[in-house]
Amino acid sequence: MAEQRYEQRRRDPLPEETDAWEALVAAARRTVADGLVVGTSGNVSVRVGDTVLVTPSGVPYDRLTPDDVTGVDLTGRQVLGTLVPTSELPMHLAVYATTDARAVVHTHAVHATAVSTLVLELPPVHYMTGALGGPVRVAPYAPYGTPELAENVLRALEGRTGCLLRNHGTLTHGTTLDQAYDRTAQLEWMCSLWLKASSVPHHTPSLLTESQITEAGTRLRNYGQPG
Ligand code: 13P
Ligand code: ZN
Repeated sequence: MAEQRYEQRRRDPLPEETDAWEALVAAARRTVADGLVVGTSGNVSVRVGDTVLVTPSGVPYDRLTPDDVTGVDLTGRQVLGTLVPTSELPMHLAVYATTDARAVVHTHAVHATAVSTLVLELPPVHYMTGALGGPVRVAPYAPYGTPELAENVLRALEGRTGCLLRNHGTLTHGTTLDQAYDRTAQLEWMCSLWLKASSVPHHTPSLLTESQITEAGTRLRNYGQPG
């Protein structure tokens, strides 16, 4: 009964939340289509005002409909929908609390997860390191969904827009969903590149210097079309 009363207090989504949900579901489906996750692994969130729309926990993304909008406030209280939000809510909310992020993407991308088991930081083998703010760190392992994992991730993210989660996966954020998604794709690609280059016998990959990475990051801010 108490639960019923609580659910009744959940409001209807605003038009911009309905649009953001559609984009979020499309991004979540893309993580599966692009091979960045298997099944219901990973999660995606988007911030609209002070509401954070999130993928529900353990629901296959192709089953999500416009009626499934799931949202919480910045403290994690559910304000939209009835499906249980992602178990990684602490991690997503920690990112919104400490950065200007508007979207967060978490995956179990295979090359990135492999790298997370091998090093403390992804060696900067490519200039796209600059797009993530510098060499990508690996957050120490903690069980999925815990505040401890969220804390470890926040530390690994300092000055960066992405990190690896040891024996787990990736997390990136951005000011748009497309930007956060693209950073995950670039991170996974760089991890694959490093694994390839570093597995050639008797050879060691050349690495970029700090100033080369900074310069690339600066140039990338003007990459593509103006505006
Ligand atoms: P959810 O299905 O609860 O989002 O969990 C998936 C996951 O990747 C946990 O780390
Ligand atoms: Zn995960």
